[in-house]
Amino acid sequence: MKKDQVLDQRHRPLRDLRISVTDRCNFRCTYCMPKEIFGDDYQFLPKDHLLTFEEIVELTKIFVELGVKKIKLTGGEPLLRKDVYKLIAMLSKIEGIHDIGLTTNGVYLKKYGSKLYEAGLRRLNISLDAIDDDTFRRLNGRDVSAKTVLANIDYAVSVGFSVKVNMVVQKGVNDHQILPMTEYFKNKGIPLRFIEFMDVGNTNGWNMKDVLIKKDIVKMISSVYSIEPIDENYFGEVAKRYRHQDTGSEIGFITSVSEPFCSSCTRARISSDGKLYTCLYAHEGFDLRDFIRSGKSPEEIKMAIERVWQNRKDQYSVERTENKGMLNKNKIEMSYIGG
Ligand code: SAM
Ligand code: SF4
Ligand code: SF4
Repeated sequence: MKKDQVLDQRHRPLRDLRISVTDRCNFRCTYCMPKEIFGDDYQFLPKDHLLTFEEIVELTKIFVELGVKKIKLTGGEPLLRKDVYKLIAMLSKIEGIHDIGLTTNGVYLKKYGSKLYEAGLRRLNISLDAIDDDTFRRLNGRDVSAKTVLANIDYAVSVGFSVKVNMVVQKGVNDHQILPMTEYFKNKGIPLRFIEFMDVGNTNGWNMKDVLIKKDIVKMISSVYSIEPIDENYFGEVAKRYRHQDTGSEIGFITSVSEPFCSSCTRARISSDGKLYTCLYAHEGFDLRDFIRSGKSPEEIKMAIERVWQNRKDQYSVERTENKGMLNKNKIEMSYIGG
């Protein structure tokens, strides 16, 4: 198949693919899978609804034909998917992929870290919202200690992974952790990225007044540390990066609320049951699993994906910011589509 460049309605190319490998999670983060909603009787996807590794690989190859260069595996918690390291090994062999990453809450890294590394994974985004134990236990909804994740971050670094830590900031909930987290990861030399609390899904009770925006976080950090902005690495880089002037350690900001980056959004997402979404805030996906399982050829699937991307107009964050608040939409949940 010939390599194509496909552009959407806002002239954005398709470059990144986020693949969710499960909708299940061992955490119940209050801002993502509140336990009042994701309780014991919550109906997760049945196993046979999930894309198999072979189906994921088949689809990924087609996405690469359409311009994808970067893959990120996510979830739910991707390390809950049985033998996910085997999928990494299969994806690593696909020619044309420059980069494979995985986003995890870090709990199972001790168990699977070395297998993932051997399979070819090199980049990990590890989520951690506080180093204070009480705050972290409350936020993850499962009483897991921050020490567990901190130890696993050290372990991942010792295995050889390039690690970034992601912290979702909520005003009045964990903003008192911004400076301790900054100090801790500055000393470790591990990049720390602050994520503005987003109105993904319909269950996390999002309100603009709970969002601490980048400008205020920068002000808070600058009152103690000397930091300076760094230039963008590449078109569409999601994080706005800064560095500590003394050590060079990096911090970054994912500013979906205060400075939306839709104009350079080159990301497609596949849910674990094989639906293609062109925006984190979408409410409808295109069923690729049905295409594969009904025996459509790679060429037919490629044409279908191409059409979906060419029709893409999404820029939810820009519209929310213009609207100065959440837009009323029946959005998919973050744990279903992945971050
Ligand atoms: N379970 C893995 C983890 O937590 O890293 C991967 C999936 S999780 C949905 C991916 C990322 O989305 C995490 O960094 C998480 O903190 C972030 N996230 C989830 N809900 C969010 C929200 N409402 N606002 C901002 N970030 C959110
Ligand atoms: Fe699970 Fe990640 Fe969502 Fe937390 S943010 S509930 S770890 S999927
Ligand atoms: Fe991309 Fe949608 Fe997020 Fe905008 S709101 S950056 S289009 S995923």
